[in-house]
Amino acid sequence: MGTADLHIHSTYSHDATSTVRAVLKQAADVGLNVIAVTDHNEIRGSLEAHELAPKYGIESIPAVEVSTKEGHLVALFVKTLPPAGLTLADTLIYIGRLGGVAIAPHPFNNLPSSLSMESVVSALTNPRAKGVLKGIETHNMSTQSFDSVAQKLSVYLPFAKIGSSDAHVYWAIGAGRTEFPGETAQDLRNALDQMTTVPIPYKEEFSTKAILSWMHRMTLRKFGYASDNKSATQPINTQKMSQSFIQRIKKK
Ligand SMILES: [Zn+2]
Ligand SMILES: [Zn+2]
Repeated sequence: MGTADLHIHSTYSHDATSTVRAVLKQAADVGLNVIAVTDHNEIRGSLEAHELAPKYGIESIPAVEVSTKEGHLVALFVKTLPPAGLTLADTLIYIGRLGGVAIAPHPFNNLPSSLSMESVVSALTNPRAKGVLKGIETHNMSTQSFDSVAQKLSVYLPFAKIGSSDAHVYWAIGAGRTEFPGETAQDLRNALDQMTTVPIPYKEEFSTKAILSWMHRMTLRKFGYASDNKSATQPINTQKMSQSFIQRIKKK
């Protein structure tokens, strides 16, 4: 069995604190085989991760967390950014044309960024959108107190069950993962098709300490510091980001 964390944010997301290299280093250190860097409406970090991942001995699927009109959607196996603000059905059709598949992250709760059951059921009635949505997160470490409805409904829905971290800080990577038969990104894709994934939830509560740690790192980020490492072997450290890197993550 392989393990994947298919929902991780890098500094290319406005609300995350680890560089792509720190994400890859941590993912390798905690024994993940496959990851997806899924920044908010931004794909450059994920493309970088896809290129760099072999140096860390893992695979990183090109991916993005796109904001549809109806809520967030994780697109996997895409190298082009789907436009934000489309309906869920239109976004799924777009992802399908790119050769990708999708997962509904932190679904069926009252969070403003989550897809509702009505949205998902309505998208399923569209024959072109239907086959693209392959999985739902039944366990998302960052929204775990809102996950129970997705867990209950998942029994009745034709989707692979996914556990993810939705990590915005490096130490959360892998705290929420998905097991699948095989080890590679292609094996993972097959497991999504066959609904043979097994979500492995994070065992501890998402504590106040974790929120404070994220706030601390966000403050550092405002001053130009991020969790980083210079090579595949060096430990992760808080490093000043170079001006050129800051320009790069700001430039759209
Ligand atoms: Zn989200
Ligand atoms: Zn997210």
